[in-house]
Amino acid sequence: MEHTIKRIGLLTSGGDSPGMNAAIRAVVRACKYYNVESIGIRQGYEGLIQNDVIVLGARSVRHIINQGGTILKTARSEEFRTAVGRKKAYQNIQQNQIDALIVIGGDGSFTGAKIFAEEFGIPFIGVPGTIDNDIFGTDFTIGYDTALNTVVEAIDKLRDTATSHDRLFFVEVMGRDAGFIALHSGIASGAQEILIPEKKDSIEELIASLEQSDKTGKKSSIVVIAEGEKLGNIYQLAAQVKELKPQYDIRVTVLGHIQRGGSPSCQDRVLASRLGIAAVEALLEGKTNLMAGLRSNKVVYTPIEEAIKKHNEIDQDLIKTAQILAI
Ligand code: ATP
Repeated sequence: MEHTIKRIGLLTSGGDSPGMNAAIRAVVRACKYYNVESIGIRQGYEGLIQNDVIVLGARSVRHIINQGGTILKTARSEEFRTAVGRKKAYQNIQQNQIDALIVIGGDGSFTGAKIFAEEFGIPFIGVPGTIDNDIFGTDFTIGYDTALNTVVEAIDKLRDTATSHDRLFFVEVMGRDAGFIALHSGIASGAQEILIPEKKDSIEELIASLEQSDKTGKKSSIVVIAEGEKLGNIYQLAAQVKELKPQYDIRVTVLGHIQRGGSPSCQDRVLASRLGIAAVEALLEGKTNLMAGLRSNKVVYTPIEEAIKKHNEIDQDLIKTAQILAI
């Protein structure tokens, strides 16, 4: 098949997530399949500005589907936020004869690509790679499922020690302004309370829930808190509860960057593989300014503007599920 696009550049940008490598592999192999060259750009937009690029072939991406992180590395580039930086990036696009870009990252990375496309007319497709699951236009982002499994495994371990010592554990999980990781991992690990930014929480309700759990004979409990929780940060919340309930033996655990690492789950590998191929196919069909995502297990394309601006709603049924199960 003949295409006007002969060379596709791909980069990973923003926070890394497990499955980015599977997406890179899929893009490179789809390029090979459709007879298009693929150019890997290292360190996200920073590599585009520094001209840090590498030609990738089908064999360059062997044995990476099972690896966390990103072989292309990722970065947050301040220079790309400037017109001067983007001009340098475009000069390197021209020098390397790159006809189109695939950007694997979060909404910030898509915003950068959108501005770049507006300025220089370079077609691009976004692939949602972030553990936070906070991108509109896809039921799941690449890395979310693996992060959830990491969190659940960690909380299971914390529960062992919580049970042994009759302790109350406060566990902070990632998700930026979104509570998807907290809500799903909280349900899966049997948390007594789950505090997320999408729900209005109060100390009074938290205390009432903990008192209720005392009454029903629970000796230890887990409270999962999303990092973006509006009521306060985990240390403030633990201190407030301790002040009101000094008898509680409270421990605080911030899971942190462990949530970003590890071998991607089967679901993330399959998702990344499908979306990587979908991104290449979209470009070859002349599409641009879109994000490839998965809705109801079908590949769909969402205008990048919507992917950036809109938000997936938290399912209210899940909040009720968590409440019923904490009885
Ligand atoms: P994550 O959700 O994992 O944090 P992200 O893609 O949202 O990923 P950001 O740090 O927000 O991560 O964005 C990644 C990079 O995209 C930035 O470092 C910057 O280079 C580029 N970028 C973001 N916003 C803009 C913008 N308004 N103009 C130009 N470039 C931008």
